[in-house]
Amino acid sequence: MSADLHDLGFLEVAEALTQKRASSEELTMALLARSEELESKLNSLTWFNREAVLAEARAADAARAAGDNRPYLGVPIAIKDLLNVKGQPCTAGSRILKGYVAPYDATVIARLRAAGCVFVSRTNTDEFAMGGSTETSAYGTTRNPWDTDRVPGGSSGGSAAAVAARLAPAALASDTGGSIRQPAAFCGVTGLKPTYGRVSRYGCTAFASSLDQIGPIARSVEDATAVYQVIAGLDPHDSTTAARPVDDCLPNVRAARDLKGLKLGLPKEYFVDGLHPEVEQLTRAAVAQCRALGAEIVDVELPHSKYGIACYYVLAPAEASANLARYDGVRYGFRAEAEDLQEMYEQTRAQGFGAEVKRRVILGTYVLSSGFHDAYYLRAQKVRTLIRRDFDRVFARCDAILGPVTPSPAFRVGEKTADPVQMYLGDIFTANVNLAGICGLSVPCGFTTGGLPAGLHIIGPAFADARILQIGAAYQHATEWHKQQPKI
Ligand code: GLN
Repeated sequence: MSADLHDLGFLEVAEALTQKRASSEELTMALLARSEELESKLNSLTWFNREAVLAEARAADAARAAGDNRPYLGVPIAIKDLLNVKGQPCTAGSRILKGYVAPYDATVIARLRAAGCVFVSRTNTDEFAMGGSTETSAYGTTRNPWDTDRVPGGSSGGSAAAVAARLAPAALASDTGGSIRQPAAFCGVTGLKPTYGRVSRYGCTAFASSLDQIGPIARSVEDATAVYQVIAGLDPHDSTTAARPVDDCLPNVRAARDLKGLKLGLPKEYFVDGLHPEVEQLTRAAVAQCRALGAEIVDVELPHSKYGIACYYVLAPAEASANLARYDGVRYGFRAEAEDLQEMYEQTRAQGFGAEVKRRVILGTYVLSSGFHDAYYLRAQKVRTLIRRDFDRVFARCDAILGPVTPSPAFRVGEKTADPVQMYLGDIFTANVNLAGICGLSVPCGFTTGGLPAGLHIIGPAFADARILQIGAAYQHATEWHKQQPKI
């Protein structure tokens, strides 16, 4: 079976290891070989170190041979280059962090490590996760495995492309305004943005702290659930994590076959002019499938969702401008040569940050400045509350919301780089979910006539992560979209 080891998903790998049909070393070697073969076309990874990674895999095999039977012992996983893995580089897609090696494990990494996972590679990202195409990375653009002339989405385009191209059975990513769900939709894989506070952000390079959330990208809802179960839960290092227990929802997700008794809302604001006709048609077909599985579909309204992009692009840059103040050339990574301290700070930031990051820092500093704070930042905070209340009202009568993840399928490399507003509008269906602090899942729901994947968005109330996973799993049991593979 070794020829096809890279084809196995996260739970299939775990099963192959526990049944001793393959070793972690063989699996990891298969993934590294495939990465070496395909990376010249995809550029989805920023780092992999054959020797270090194989040593980890061998250690996992030795532990299993000695009787250790943790279910995920030796399972390889790729990590977005924004999450700290002790001893591995962590660049956040930025020149300013070039050469920075993580001195500690993020909590999500510590948990995966405790479960026995092997960190096989690091995946490309828009610089500091600011972007929707993985074109702002200082380490080059990642390509979509379904069409390498097109973007994989972003900012977690590396994670989505790597999972779709079978360079890893699953990956970790982060989502501030759509960065897990949008690339998952563009690459035909499954991505979960958990409820804010469900997964620790400790050790995640901060972009916008009130919006950032880490989650899995995988080949199926079942695989995503397995990873989510490992990383979720209270963490004393992140005071925004919730004390609620994380129930073991994997058995229910695996058993999900229908949607009987569920009421699912269809927001009219998510089917508007500007939505690509084929994406609309594929989303509506997926909704019909959910109805056929027993769900009751009702029309709902999210009247303030039209302010979501404006609100997000005030708040996210405001938080980013504060979070990125720490990159001053003293404590991390890159430092520019200069005559004095002031010039060193300025030159480090001028040379270390790319154009999109600078745009956000300037925008964020502006909306927080004393003369404009009330007019922009405070006002956006109030709009955020209105957006959250829209969802509260809908969830008072619906179990979840269905809609598209993105307004279009994957666009061409370079198509939107000259017009940031066009790029920002791509977050129209996803950013509201982060603003409201709730959870969202993207599952593949078909292909355009041009062969590009589309994603069905399943949005749930806060801490209903298990519910949206069950809905997604029932959908996947009835469909084959998530099993399609790109030919590269
Ligand atoms: N595209 C959005 C942005 O550029 C979202 C990015 C993200 O979720 N990290 O801010």
